[in-house]
Amino acid sequence: MRMYDIIMKKRNGEVLNDKEIKYFIDGYTNGEIPDYQASALMMAIFFSGMNSHETYLLTKCMVESGDVVDLSSIPGIKTDKHSTGGVGDKTTMVIGPVVASCGVPVAKMSGRGLGHTGGTLDKLESIPGFRTTISPGQFIEQVKNIGISVIGQTANLVPADKKLYALRDVTATVDNKSLIAASIMSKKIAAGTDAILLDVKMGSGAFMKTLSDSIELAKEMVSIGEYYRKQTITLITNMDSPLGNAIGNSLEVIEAVDTLKGHGPSDVTDICINLAANMLYLARKGSIRECIKLVQDAMESGKALSTFKKMVASQGGDVSVIDNTDLFDKAEIVYEVRSDKEGFITSMDTEKCGIASVVLGAGRKSKDDKIDYSSGIIFKAKTGDRVTKGETLAILYTSKKSAIKTSEDILKSAILIEPLNPKTIPIIQARVTQDGVQTYL
Ligand code: URA
Repeated sequence: MRMYDIIMKKRNGEVLNDKEIKYFIDGYTNGEIPDYQASALMMAIFFSGMNSHETYLLTKCMVESGDVVDLSSIPGIKTDKHSTGGVGDKTTMVIGPVVASCGVPVAKMSGRGLGHTGGTLDKLESIPGFRTTISPGQFIEQVKNIGISVIGQTANLVPADKKLYALRDVTATVDNKSLIAASIMSKKIAAGTDAILLDVKMGSGAFMKTLSDSIELAKEMVSIGEYYRKQTITLITNMDSPLGNAIGNSLEVIEAVDTLKGHGPSDVTDICINLAANMLYLARKGSIRECIKLVQDAMESGKALSTFKKMVASQGGDVSVIDNTDLFDKAEIVYEVRSDKEGFITSMDTEKCGIASVVLGAGRKSKDDKIDYSSGIIFKAKTGDRVTKGETLAILYTSKKSAIKTSEDILKSAILIEPLNPKTIPIIQARVTQDGVQTYL
């Protein structure tokens, strides 16, 4: 078999078989197939597409490229959640403890921020002392004892995706539904979970810009879940403005804690209730309506917050900053971005908002950059709000004086202010399951 022929076949729009896909994934993972041939195949797939069976085969070969985690010693139905990446997305820190406090084990491997999007690991590491690398044995024991652990991916989990994702990132081949579906689902399957909840972000801050593309991606992932007999549900959620008011690591932990205490922003609360209820539904805790009630009880009773604190303590974190979030380190510089005119905020370019926060120090421009945990942005107004000239739109937090002007310019160019109030868009746009698509527009 030759890589050249596989590229040619896909370039000509033909369907690849299991042997060809395996030859490519194995050869690329072990370094025998060079980046330039892998890039050519990614571009051929981008233009010619893959059918559902090819996408499943690609996922399967990617899963088999590394270790598969065995969670079978943890009793109960293990459910996992994955978001396609957004700005201000702190939902794992809320729904993980909520679901665990309702008796459903959460053994979660999360990622770091890259580009304009944040990552749960960086956010958790802004809690002084919090460790995201613990041994596999400690990870399983913690889930058995307190119901939840959130750690980084083990080194050999889907190595094919580590290489392919980095390649796609620099060859303009990320936003293809088969490649995204195989990348996400291979990691979820290899992480050993029984059921999967996916949060596909849609809008200006997301890979998927339209509802129809998001639904196609969701269907692809649900069908891969079916091949593996792992029940999979996808919620398509709005990323046309940052989620909540906070972007940045400790700022987002504070907002997550506020949400667990019942006074988070309404969009964060709403999305967390829906995601957590769907995870409980997957774990067979009742109908969606009953699961929403369980989630609300877990938040109102303080059970979920107490589970979060137990997880923080067990992974070496300082719980005093959760009890009193004023104890988090503060950024040296605080700067208010003010509106140049009067009107309604009609749109926010979420990707630019994420970049404005990265510039302040909250994210990485390249893989090895160090994060400034207390930097970021708090929005005082978001899409749909009326603002007057001179009113504060956002507060910037940083230790880099030189970053303020650039961040302010990016942010101002991201926020559109016009005379008329925009139409409100629901945070949950659609739910895709094996039974079909339900939209909420
Ligand atoms: N997230 C992933 O893990 N993979 C993709 O391809 C896109 C988003």
